[in-house]
Amino acid sequence: MKIGFPRAIFYFDTFPFWAGYFEALGIELQVSLPTNRAILEKGLKKASDDTCLPIKILSGHLASFSPDIEAVFLPRMVSIEEKTYLCPKILGLPESVLAAVPDGLRVLTVTVNWREGKAQVQKSLEKLGAELNKSKSEVRVAFARAQEYQREYEEMRRAGRTFVESMEHFESLSSSAAKTQPTAQLEIARDDSVRGSEEGSTRLPHSERRPTIALIGHPYLTYESYGNLNLLAKLKAKAKLVFMENVEQVQIEDNLKDLRKPLFWSQGKRLLGAGHSYAANTYVDGVIYLSCFGCGTDSMTQDMLARRARANHKPYMVLTLDEHSGEAGLITRVEAFLDMIERKGNGFAPHVRVKDAKSQ
Ligand code: SF4
Repeated sequence: MKIGFPRAIFYFDTFPFWAGYFEALGIELQVSLPTNRAILEKGLKKASDDTCLPIKILSGHLASFSPDIEAVFLPRMVSIEEKTYLCPKILGLPESVLAAVPDGLRVLTVTVNWREGKAQVQKSLEKLGAELNKSKSEVRVAFARAQEYQREYEEMRRAGRTFVESMEHFESLSSSAAKTQPTAQLEIARDDSVRGSEEGSTRLPHSERRPTIALIGHPYLTYESYGNLNLLAKLKAKAKLVFMENVEQVQIEDNLKDLRKPLFWSQGKRLLGAGHSYAANTYVDGVIYLSCFGCGTDSMTQDMLARRARANHKPYMVLTLDEHSGEAGLITRVEAFLDMIERKGNGFAPHVRVKDAKSQ
């Protein structure tokens, strides 16, 4: 059996988990191709105008699946830890994007709610397994494999392996797409259009000394090279980068202790905790928050992080994307930000290894 797995939203957070689950059940995943103009345009036609860019991109990936697969996988991720929820737009999946699924294609879904405990997640996975004619004991093995792969992925990221390197590893275990479309092309994938062309990076200011920049954002924006106009490649040409994923969970929790109320959204917690940690880190020269129009959770967390950065005199910038964002505007803002850091007076922070977070 071959199941389509859209390269959007949950791919960027939990693909290793699902790769382990389906691999143990002997089911092949066909990951959709990296986003391109055709995919985005299909998404814009199928998704609601009011929704955020990542949901539009997801809709485009769904609409691009060919009928030679048996089903498409669209989990409903309710919660990934105790006492928090994912954002309402993610909770609304799969129903909110069903219009994008090609006619006749079966949708496989499962509700994953870690708030209700591991036993409940196991039950949900058993229900999904039953739909695939798999026994409870087979699902138990698959669940263990899924957790093992997800842990391995998180360790790889903390140890400094890039997103692309890590995903290549897991795609090679389960995805036929990896055989035809190397994931290594993800961060430079360009098949058309002016969105984020590689040449853009040559317009950035030249400097021998490179600042260390913390890039804070949802993984499905940070590593979605087409959607973010290839921001990573542009920044990497001029700066050392550290990411949210390089910060340990315990550090994230520590950096949120002084909030008056705990944050309700898991993603917001991770973004803000990692952002606070970098705002206080003397080896980080500046913090960039990558957001998108229409994101309710970011509208709050980006402002909270701005206050912390201001209090710590840390240069801070918010980049907000949508499908109309242009490369020229992005480059201008990045240039201005790096210039501002350079003019700040003390030059860049010393490039010893960033404490508790390896640079990439
Ligand atoms: S957290 Fe923001 S960007 Fe992510 S799905 Fe929700 S609204 Fe969209």
